[in-house]
Amino acid sequence: MGGTLGYDIPALPGMAEADIVTPCLILDLDALERNIRRLGEEVRRLGVRHRAHGKMHKSIDVLKLQEALGGACGVCCQKVSEAEAFARAGARDILISNQVVGDTKLERLAALPRFGARIAVCVDDAMNVADLSAAAVAAETDLDVLVEIECGAGRCGVGSPDAAIALAQAIIASPGLRFEGLQAYNGAMQHIEDEAARAERADAVIETVRRYLAALEAEGLTCRTVTGGGTGSWRREAASGVYTEVQCGSYAFMDAHYGRVLCDEWETALFVLTSVMSVARPGQAVVDAGHKAHAVDSGPPRVHDRQDLDYVGWSDEHGIVADPDRTLRLGDRLRLVPGHCDPTCNLHDCYVGLRGGTVESVWPVTARGKLF
Ligand code: PLP
Ligand code: MN
Repeated sequence: MGGTLGYDIPALPGMAEADIVTPCLILDLDALERNIRRLGEEVRRLGVRHRAHGKMHKSIDVLKLQEALGGACGVCCQKVSEAEAFARAGARDILISNQVVGDTKLERLAALPRFGARIAVCVDDAMNVADLSAAAVAAETDLDVLVEIECGAGRCGVGSPDAAIALAQAIIASPGLRFEGLQAYNGAMQHIEDEAARAERADAVIETVRRYLAALEAEGLTCRTVTGGGTGSWRREAASGVYTEVQCGSYAFMDAHYGRVLCDEWETALFVLTSVMSVARPGQAVVDAGHKAHAVDSGPPRVHDRQDLDYVGWSDEHGIVADPDRTLRLGDRLRLVPGHCDPTCNLHDCYVGLRGGTVESVWPVTARGKLF
């Protein structure tokens, strides 16, 4: 990634960690690669595929690692423009794990196969099926379409097997569309702290999927793909015998909130590197990473490797770190573990990849800000 140090980019390959310009995102590449390899091995053992969720990292470089080291079969995106950024960068198997509505978006979606990518999308509405078909016919492309079922999160998805059957039949009857299967993802259960309660919710989701699959089979409708599951639940879906792929995203980087929920079962690979800019007030240090540098929707960041320090407050560009023993000096570096990885990554232009204290790579956040 090119650009001017300290203006466009925070680091150059070969630099020492101590010289990186802050605040910026850093990746512990060894930890990242271990997470990716481990998920890949576990998923393979359970006989399903992993479709990496790209909404988390928005990075073609991280996706390439997930495909090469973890055997990921492709990527999930939430938005058309995000999918387009991945397709332009070379992704070849993309599921938009979401509904796409509106003429401009449908037109761009239908054009994506021209990048050489297989494109799949979710639906929960018959009018949307008709609009998708018209867009695919106009673009002279084919789209794979999954019926999304509502399975407990109260978000998108059809609410009955009959509705799923009707949509599947509509997809099959629509030129330019292929019926691919079902998406059943329950985001609300991913962060339940009590493991038994989380497993119970996941099992309820799996039972719902079984019921839908039986109803579809009875009508002669076969699902090639059943997709869903995230970092908090994926083992249940993967072992269920009904899912064919899981969509874990956060496992690769992790964050402070998920780390608490999952008792640090995955290594922390993503940090916001920050520097002390003021110690004028006794007992506290002010650092250069406020909430423009990390998302606080899931709580404050944790200060990595420093039990004695607490990130207790923030404003746009400042973070307040309680330092009762007055250990910090101007220019000292801290690694913050963000509360929530996905929206944190979307705040930055690039990732600085570190190995053994040296910058190895500077990668763009390929789909940063792609919200359409
Ligand atoms: N699949 C869908 C549809 C999602 O919305 C998300 C995240 O919100 C994920 C998968 C990935 O979840 P996680 O980051 O918990 O692995
Ligand atoms: Mn998230």
